[in-house]
Amino acid sequence: NTTIATNFVQNAIEEDQKNGKYTEGIHTRFPPEPNGYLHIGHAKSICLNFGLAEYNHGLCNLRFDDTNPTKEDTEYVDSIQEDIRWLGFSWQNRMYYASDYFDKLYDYAVELIKKGLAYVDDLTAEEIKEYRGTLTEPGKESPYRNRSVEENLDLFARMKAGEFADGEKVLRAKIDMASPNMVMRDTVIYRIAHAHHHRTGDKWCIYPMYDFAHPLSDAIEGITHSVCTLEFEEHRPFYDWLLENLGFDVNTRPRQIEFARLNLTNTVTSKRKLRQLVEEGHVRGWDDPRMPTISGLRRRGFTPAALRKFCEEIGVAKGNSLVDVAMLESCVRSDLNENADRIMAVLRPLKVIITNYPEDKEEWLLGDNNPMHGGHRFIPFSRELYIEQEDFMEEAPKKFFRLKPGGEVRLKHAYIIKCDEVIKDEAGNVVELHCTADLESKTGGATASRKIKGTIHWVAAKTAVPAEVRLYDYLLETDENGNLPADFIGALNKNSLEVIDNAWVEPSVKLQAAGKHYQFLRTGYFVIDTDTTPDKLVFNRVVGLRDSWAK
Ligand code: ATP
Ligand code: MG
Ligand code: MG
Repeated sequence: NTTIATNFVQNAIEEDQKNGKYTEGIHTRFPPEPNGYLHIGHAKSICLNFGLAEYNHGLCNLRFDDTNPTKEDTEYVDSIQEDIRWLGFSWQNRMYYASDYFDKLYDYAVELIKKGLAYVDDLTAEEIKEYRGTLTEPGKESPYRNRSVEENLDLFARMKAGEFADGEKVLRAKIDMASPNMVMRDTVIYRIAHAHHHRTGDKWCIYPMYDFAHPLSDAIEGITHSVCTLEFEEHRPFYDWLLENLGFDVNTRPRQIEFARLNLTNTVTSKRKLRQLVEEGHVRGWDDPRMPTISGLRRRGFTPAALRKFCEEIGVAKGNSLVDVAMLESCVRSDLNENADRIMAVLRPLKVIITNYPEDKEEWLLGDNNPMHGGHRFIPFSRELYIEQEDFMEEAPKKFFRLKPGGEVRLKHAYIIKCDEVIKDEAGNVVELHCTADLESKTGGATASRKIKGTIHWVAAKTAVPAEVRLYDYLLETDENGNLPADFIGALNKNSLEVIDNAWVEPSVKLQAAGKHYQFLRTGYFVIDTDTTPDKLVFNRVVGLRDSWAK
């Protein structure tokens, strides 16, 4: 994996080891908050954290960062595990919950108080914000800042015992209200929340803040490199301050390193916004094939290999940037081009009768599954066929090399046919074509090598399998620079889903179930959707055939 070998996080790890740090080995973690489904941005973090561990022969933990009781749920805990496994990574037996450390974290908070480095504050949330000052103005000290250690210990114990209401008091680190770094202006480390927690139940009514819980969870687990996104850069001094003041050795304690989060054109990568799409019913669920969640991408037909390849290609950098979603599509296209079987499917059928082909005859032709892998399948041929409506034109321009009145075209894997007659309904719509086949023109026949400009796909009407086909477009529309408006709901694409319910597919797909990929010849890459039953096939279009991504 060249991205891991050359990225700046790996360089930092090697530098640390040269300096005699982390001699016991490298240990990373992936720390999702179980408040939603993972998305493509998380895939970047997963590939990086598990990739770094693998590359350095180290370990990577899965840790649920579940310190915020009101938004978390076991549904998310389960989906997160499924998604990481599907991507191809394993935490083996190292799955942890930050909530498992609540007792230890409480003890560390008490230790800080005893050292005179934390205090209970009675200011309201608004007052704390007001007192904090601005980037150009120093903050103001809280009138409660100089409480004695004894008073703080007593009040903190009573916070834990449930004597106070939500928001009545908080515990704050005691650092420097004039620091140029806003996080260092006595950041809040515990708050009161009388809320039921998905794992600890009603045991706690105080909960540690991210800034407090995260560094300590890392340290408790023996993490060496705590890789996180850029918005936490400002929090790093507090990360170090906390571990330093609680006596963790600088040669073994975790080090925070920030990288740029993934932003994709036409895509929101924020759980909050994705949740809004689900809750307001703009999509069918977290795994809607238009969603950039890992479960949505999986259902859409993206493969783990394609997502890992994408994460490798975008690389890891220190500066935020916007990645073209066409690059993600290009990764799945090249994976499916190499690995998906080709079949024929007609999305918008037009009936064709081969008038010189016997009514009761049925023959089996051979088609190759994938020119890169070999392998063949049988394709039935008979008198009545379906072709794609757009492959016939009555008043065709000169360069139209498909079927036209009096014209010839080759049916893929079969015969050359000629259009003799166009049948229309009362309204003048073309409903059927009567054609004759050159019966010597299939592979091995006398006229097989006759030059015909166009080749089209088809299915035999009698044996074809009916299918519903779902075609997708981007869920969100962006401006020409690929940016979304602040009100992203206003950018929802009303035509992001087109359902075709009378498509026909060749019978080799019979009995296949969800997750099986195909290239429909000339049409695109498709996957069988989870809505498929033994009686009804449903396909999703993963991506079209043509690559708009210029390397
Ligand atoms: P969101 O804003 O979508 O809720 P988050 O960062 O709050 O994202 P977490 O569950 O805390 O979500 O994320 C777990 C890990 O995944 C964190 O280390 C986080 O930095 C990383 N991560 C989240 N989004 C992205 C992204 N777009 N690109 C890269 N890494 C990400
Ligand atoms: Mg987070
Ligand atoms: Mg978040």
